[in-house]
Amino acid sequence: MSLLSSNIKINLGSIRERMQDAATRAGRNVGDIRLVAVTKYMPAEYVQAAMSAGQHCFGENTLQDALGKQALLHNPLNEWHFIGHLQSNKAKSIPENFAWLHTLDSLKLASKLSAGATRSQRTLNVLLQVNIADDPDKFGLPAASVYAFVEDLLGAGLYGIRLRGLMAIGRRNDSPEATRANFAALRELGEACAARFDARHFSELSMGMSNDFEIAIAEGATMIRVGSSIFGQRPTAAPDYS
Ligand SMILES: *Cc1c(COP(=O)(O)O)cnc(C)c1O
Repeated sequence: MSLLSSNIKINLGSIRERMQDAATRAGRNVGDIRLVAVTKYMPAEYVQAAMSAGQHCFGENTLQDALGKQALLHNPLNEWHFIGHLQSNKAKSIPENFAWLHTLDSLKLASKLSAGATRSQRTLNVLLQVNIADDPDKFGLPAASVYAFVEDLLGAGLYGIRLRGLMAIGRRNDSPEATRANFAALRELGEACAARFDARHFSELSMGMSNDFEIAIAEGATMIRVGSSIFGQRPTAAPDYS
């Protein structure tokens, strides 16, 4: 095994252990928490190394970077999650190439995703991105407009996209207490939506990254998105597969 592969395997093992510990502390089953390994900007060898260590759920944030790697890494077990902000002109290609999108924040985007799902005869699982901390630097719906958005989205009856839950990104420099309060607010919003609408649309909470995933697990995350703790520091640009 190469040094790269053994490092990634060790890192994955340690993340899985920390997930287990955090779940135990919260009285939760670790099997209810999905680890999305964030491979954005990392070369295909890194993804391959994670696959060899049994990881098959991956997060990418640009279409081009993801498609380059997917073409090199065929494996029916792989499950790709789109976690970046998406321009709606790219949306039609998402359902064919991803199982999940974590960043829905407009009806225009929803309708383009639906058109792509229809064209490729796929179903895309979607999460609403919520700007839970009202951070002016972040995308996502303000928490106060989530009910109205869900009403419109479900009312539109769009084919091929299935609403599954909520997603948020913690603020990098927040204290653990502030992070926890924001994750708790996302969980409460999800619970309120489940009570108000159909609970099946709100079973998932995507929150927590390398620096705060244990807090997210304590507050009910069902998906955590972890990159640098598995793969090391990221290059600042995507690899070139042309
Ligand atoms: C990059 C990214 C992550 C992973 O961040 P790390 O700090 O490297 O774990 C998670 N979620 C989103 C939306 C990201 O863009």
